[in-house]
Amino acid sequence: MVEEGLQLDHRGYRFRAPFQCICCGKKVSAQQFAYGRACGLCDVGACDVLNRAYEPAAVHPNPVWWSEDADDMVRRFAGAMHASPTPQQEKD
Ligand SMILES: [Zn+2]
Ligand SMILES: [Zn+2]
Repeated sequence: MVEEGLQLDHRGYRFRAPFQCICCGKKVSAQQFAYGRACGLCDVGACDVLNRAYEPAAVHPNPVWWSEDADDMVRRFAGAMHASPTPQQEKD
C-alpha cells in the first residue's frame, strides 16, 4: 500500500501522510492512524505510566502537542502535523 498522498480527516482537520501517533509521536501507518490516531502500544495503553512495570519500553515523554484538554490537544497536534482544516463543502 502506497501511503504518499494519503489524507485522513479527523475532528475537523485533514491529516496527510506520513502519520504520527498522537500519543508518542511515533510514525504510524495510515490504517493505524485511521483506526485510533495512536500507535499499537499507545492504543492499548501500554505507554501509560501505570503500566511501567509491564511495558517499561513503551512509556514515553509527552509529545510537544500534549495538553490536558482533548480538544486542545487535537488542535495542537493538527498544527504540529501541518494538518489543514477540513473543507466544509468538498466533492469527491
Ligand atoms: Zn504511540
Ligand atoms: Zn503513548
